[in-house]
Amino acid sequence: MKHVSDLRRHGLFDAKVPRFTSYPPANWFSEDIGEKNVYGWQSSAPEEAEISLYVHVPFCRRLCWFCACRTQGTRNDAPLAPYVERILAEAKSTRSRFTDRIRPRRLHLGGGTPTILSSSLLDRLLTGLDDIWGLNQLEEFSVEVDPTDVGPKRLAMLKKHGLSRVSLGIQDFDPQVQKAIGRQQSHELTADVVRQLRNLDVNALNFDLLYGLPFQTAKTLSATLDAALEMNPGRIALFGYAHVPWMSKRQSLIPSDALPKPEQRLALFDQARKTLLGQGYIQIGIDHFARPDDALAKAYFEKRLTRSFQGYTDDQAPYLIGLGASAISTYPQGFAQNIPVTGKYAAQVEAGKSALWRGYELNATDHLKANLVEQLMCYHTATLTEDQLADHTILTAILYIVERFGDAVAWNGKTLSIVRWAHPLVRMIAGTLTTDQTEKSDGRTYSAAI
Ligand code: SF4
Repeated sequence: MKHVSDLRRHGLFDAKVPRFTSYPPANWFSEDIGEKNVYGWQSSAPEEAEISLYVHVPFCRRLCWFCACRTQGTRNDAPLAPYVERILAEAKSTRSRFTDRIRPRRLHLGGGTPTILSSSLLDRLLTGLDDIWGLNQLEEFSVEVDPTDVGPKRLAMLKKHGLSRVSLGIQDFDPQVQKAIGRQQSHELTADVVRQLRNLDVNALNFDLLYGLPFQTAKTLSATLDAALEMNPGRIALFGYAHVPWMSKRQSLIPSDALPKPEQRLALFDQARKTLLGQGYIQIGIDHFARPDDALAKAYFEKRLTRSFQGYTDDQAPYLIGLGASAISTYPQGFAQNIPVTGKYAAQVEAGKSALWRGYELNATDHLKANLVEQLMCYHTATLTEDQLADHTILTAILYIVERFGDAVAWNGKTLSIVRWAHPLVRMIAGTLTTDQTEKSDGRTYSAAI
């Protein structure tokens, strides 16, 4: 691969940087943001505000070793029904602060494993959310599905409630890689779930794949991609595996000496990228690929692409209301995150108290920086507005970037562009834009830049 030495010169293989699913990253959130702030943001939402709902189901039947999500393993169903009731209680109390006429346009169930819920619990959850929020104007209802923990009844129930998009967790099909990351899942089983979804006329499919896994080679990754492409998903999210065992203890079960080195990670990503582009996919941002007729590709071409805690999205709603343990809500004024420990979250809601843990209120400069970070993360280029150009901290940061990254960027006094070969540096460049970034992190909070 060309330009490896240039990327090394710019520090790509050593850097630890945020993923920038939000600006600022969640580790900047503070407990100083309380109910007074968040309730004010909710009650000031105008009637015509676009709003999306996210429901977090933190339970999983299995705990895959590679996964750094906040999840809780459970072998039995005992905690599930009470949790659904707590979600509905939180939904009701949150709803009461918004004006009556607001209706969500999108609903996403994520986790964890939302399909760990039985069909009757899914029915209870979705009927309850409909009673509370009114789901009759949904444009999209999407669910994260673990192919090993779902079945025809659960899929049929989701379809009954309007399921329109599914994200399937795959990661890698190679048996040795799967064993090393503690997640076994055959190609046949995944293909069968895809068939069931298509039979239900749910054709908007996203596959989650990972590069940088132990024992992954050019050959195994190529075989995984071939197997995935056979099923013709509209979208593929190809995330870099982040090995952070100090943050996610179960990752210490992964043989770190079998992990590809940073240069190999870059080569794996580049190989996958070329395969997907060759198959007609469009690259979206740093790690997504979509067929040209997919809604994400259309949003990309129409410059409507945004980035949220769920990654790249065509959802432009300024209000994203997160329900459940650890869920993050987005408001025009800032962010609010729920208590992450499921038991504590449930106890608070059961007692009729707020589930809020921490948050962040955006000031005027934060808004300007958030916009620049989003432009760079989505398009590898950012055109500054008059307000952004007039902000001293932003201009100073841009000039620093031009000096620090030299041949990797182009700056014409208004637009900052990252040149093609330097696209892998985008998270580093976005991180530099937030000049006080390093003061808020000990460097272990973030993941490898590639
Ligand atoms: S990858 Fe999915 S099923 Fe595995 S632990 Fe993470 S959330 Fe649970």
